[in-house]
Amino acid sequence: MDSTFDDSSRDSAGFVMVERDASLPPGEYDLLQTTSQYVDSLSAELRTVSLTIHDDPELQYKEHHAHAVLTEYMNEKPGWVVTPSCYGIETAFVAVFDSGKKGPTVSFNAEYDALKGIGHACGHNLIAVASVAGALATAHLVAQKGLSGKVILFGTPAEEGGGGKIKLLDAGAYDQHGVDISLISHPGITPDAALVRTAAYTAFKLEYFGKKAHAAARPWDGINALDALITAYNAISVLRQQTEPGDIIQGMITNGGLRPNIIHAYSAGRFVVRSSTRARRDALLKRVQACFEAGSTATGAELKVTRGGSYDDHMPNKALGRSYRHFFNRLGGNIPREEVDYLESATMASTDQDDQGNQLGGPHTPDFEKAARTQEAHEKAMRVSKALAATAGDVLTRPELLREIRREFEENKRIDESVRSRRGV
Ligand SMILES: [Zn+2]
Ligand SMILES: [Zn+2]
Repeated sequence: MDSTFDDSSRDSAGFVMVERDASLPPGEYDLLQTTSQYVDSLSAELRTVSLTIHDDPELQYKEHHAHAVLTEYMNEKPGWVVTPSCYGIETAFVAVFDSGKKGPTVSFNAEYDALKGIGHACGHNLIAVASVAGALATAHLVAQKGLSGKVILFGTPAEEGGGGKIKLLDAGAYDQHGVDISLISHPGITPDAALVRTAAYTAFKLEYFGKKAHAAARPWDGINALDALITAYNAISVLRQQTEPGDIIQGMITNGGLRPNIIHAYSAGRFVVRSSTRARRDALLKRVQACFEAGSTATGAELKVTRGGSYDDHMPNKALGRSYRHFFNRLGGNIPREEVDYLESATMASTDQDDQGNQLGGPHTPDFEKAARTQEAHEKAMRVSKALAATAGDVLTRPELLREIRREFEENKRIDESVRSRRGV
């Protein structure tokens, strides 16, 4: 029994009735019913997995306990081939369920890293079990119905700043398995949504190298690196007035010199540039770079820019979202229709896959860490996993859906390219 269903969907004995999909031709089996029942049978053991990950929070690339728990759990499941510590990352893993028949490859990403000082305040223990349940229920469907294709679960470390999925992508993890779609969910305090749009993001370390001199006796011998950084900071403050909605530039000074009576030979700062799309972010970077150069032009200090992390924006796929929305809402969910879902989907946070903003009470707060441990949150994660598995099943059984997902993805890439060329990046 799954208490995440509406009470209205229970019969007098307390059993949950999954409403039959009216669009199905008579006699055809129901994806949601098959995956839901299987998730219900896993829920109690996955609750234990979730709690053991939650109560032992591990930071990026050090998720050894979570990695061990999840790989052992997957190893117990028949038909799954598990490779721990793969693609050069100790805490990454891949688990493959192959039907043995050629078909689409659907994949799930499990995150399990925590945050410094506040533990699982992003609820990645819930992401882990939702993806595990989703992958297992999809594999169950494949086995039960004799479907073709593969189901893959990737263990993806270091979402919180380490870009674990980018490393896996660069190492060819998704290519190697010919992944057609990649599914994940994220808990939050925002309304339920099938679509998410995150911002494109690039971080920099900025350094200026000047020349030391006594500030009172012979200042003319010096080159002031702090002045260079302040000039750059002010130039960026000026630029901010002329940026478009959705462009965000933030910075801080990490090294502003040693003493007031010295002309500063060294200064350093950190800057972050965000924009709603990759093309716009890259156009903005050119203007920010000019501000950095203004500092060295004005003072003569030498400029060094080191690129830090960089995330592209998230392109929501409406065709895939439509499938998920349909199943999630049949489970008692309330995701609004596509147009509203799309409009509400934008966040200025950035991620290597899927993350929500840091609203009051939302992810990255102590309250959220407590909420991520509750039975209620677990039941919500299980409900999500049912809809994810049914969506994966939809992709495995309807070639026209996968074609539409691909067409839309290619179309979005073309739009991005045309924005790039219009903006000269
Ligand atoms: Zn987070
Ligand atoms: Zn997160």
